[in-house]
Amino acid sequence: MEKRNLDTICVQGGWQPKNGEPRVLPIYQSTTYKYDNSEQMGRLFDLEEEGYFYTRLQNPTNDVVAQKICDLEGGVAGMLTSSGQAANYYAAFNICEAGDHIICSAHVYGGTFNLFGVTMKKQGIDVTFINPDCTEEELEAAFKPNTKMVFGETISNPSLVVLDIEKFAKAAHRHGVPLIVDNTFATPINCRPFEWGADIVTHSTTKYMDGHAMAVGGAIVDSGKFDWNAHADKFPGLTTPDDSYHGIVYTERFGKGAYITKATAQLMRDLGSIPAPMNSFLLNVGLETLHLRMPRHCENAIKVATYLQSSDKVAWVNCPMLKGNKYYDLAKKYMPNGTCGVITFGLKGGRETAIKFMDSLEFITIVTHVADARSCVLHPASHTHRQMTDEQLIEAGVQPDLIRFSIGIENADDIINDLEQALNRI
Ligand SMILES: *Cc1c(COP(=O)(O)O)cnc(C)c1O
Repeated sequence: MEKRNLDTICVQGGWQPKNGEPRVLPIYQSTTYKYDNSEQMGRLFDLEEEGYFYTRLQNPTNDVVAQKICDLEGGVAGMLTSSGQAANYYAAFNICEAGDHIICSAHVYGGTFNLFGVTMKKQGIDVTFINPDCTEEELEAAFKPNTKMVFGETISNPSLVVLDIEKFAKAAHRHGVPLIVDNTFATPINCRPFEWGADIVTHSTTKYMDGHAMAVGGAIVDSGKFDWNAHADKFPGLTTPDDSYHGIVYTERFGKGAYITKATAQLMRDLGSIPAPMNSFLLNVGLETLHLRMPRHCENAIKVATYLQSSDKVAWVNCPMLKGNKYYDLAKKYMPNGTCGVITFGLKGGRETAIKFMDSLEFITIVTHVADARSCVLHPASHTHRQMTDEQLIEAGVQPDLIRFSIGIENADDIINDLEQALNRI
C-alpha cells in the first residue's frame, strides 16, 4: 500500500483479504494458535520462523492495524500497544537501560513527563528536560556520553508547542542517537515526522486515530533509517547476542525490522502490554475516516479560535494555526494543512469564571479526554491539577484560567453558539 495516497491507506491499508476471505478485518479473538507438529512450533519460539503462537506476542488483528499505521507514517515496521503510555515506555526502554540518559522536550504530555521523570528514573534512566525553543547550542549542551535518545511531541499536549523536528533530528544524529517523536496530536494526516528526520514515531491511538473515544491504545513505528550498527556500542541490546533467544543478534537477523522485532520479542514477552484484538478492530474503524476527520477538526478549530479571539470576555487564545501565534511559522512548515482540533484559551476573571463558563455549556461536555469527534473541554486547575494553588499551577506551566478545548467535527456554527450562550452567562 506504500505508494498509495494517505486517504486510500486509511480506508484500504492493512487488511488485504485473499480469495473467499472476509472483506472486513476479522477479530481474531484467540489467545493461541494451532500447529500440526511440535518442531514447527519450536522454530517459532526460537524466532526462526514467522508465525503466531500466543497473542501476548502477536495477534493477526493487531498486526494488520499496526501495518496500516506503519504505512500511514511511511515506516518499515510497526506494532500496537495497549495504551499510548505503553508505546512511549516501550519505545524508550527498547534502547535504554539503567545508567543511560534521555533528552526530552519539556513540553510533553503529563503522563510522559512522569514516565521519564519519575518512573524510568527509578529504573536508573536519567532524563534532561529541555525547552523545545532552545538554541542549537543549548541542545548540544544537553547531550552526555550516555545519552541514548531524544524525544519530543509534534504538537505538545496541552501546551500546543510545535516541535522543530529538523533541529532535534540533526542534533540527535550528530550524537549518534535516534529522535523519537510522539505524533499523537498531528497524526500522519497532518505531519509525517520521518520526512523531517525523525527515526521512530509513537502514538496514543486513543486520540484522533480512534477518534470516537472508544478504546485506549498505542502504536510504535520505525522508519528503518537509523543505523544501529554504526553506533553499535551505544545499542548493545540490538547489536549483541540476546541470551533470552539463544544468542540471536537483532540487527543481524532482522535488518531494518530489528527495533520492532526486539520490542515485540523481548518487551511484549516480558511486560505484556498487548491490545485486545477487539480494540484494534475499533481502532481500524476509526482509522478508516481519519483523513476526513482531521481537516474538519482543523477547519472548526480555526473558526472557533477566531471567534474566541473576537470576544471581549476572552483574555487569550492559543491556536498555532492562527497568525500571530508564536508557533505559526513552525506549524506552517511542518503541518501546512493544519495542526489539530485542540486549542487552549483563558477567560477574563480566572479560575471561578472558567468554572461558571464550563458548567454553562450545553452539548460541549466536560471530560478528561481530548481529540474526540465530540467537542469537549477540560479545566486543568479544577480537574487534573485541582490540588494545586494558583502559584503552584503557574510554576507547573498551567495558568489557573487555562481551558483546554478539543474541538470536534460538529457544525462549527453550533459549537460557536454553545460557546456564546455560555459566555453570556458569566
Ligand atoms: C494521551 C497521550 C498519551 C498517553 O496515551 P494513553 O493512550 O492515554 O496511554 C501520550 N502522548 C500524548 C501526546 C497524549 O496525548
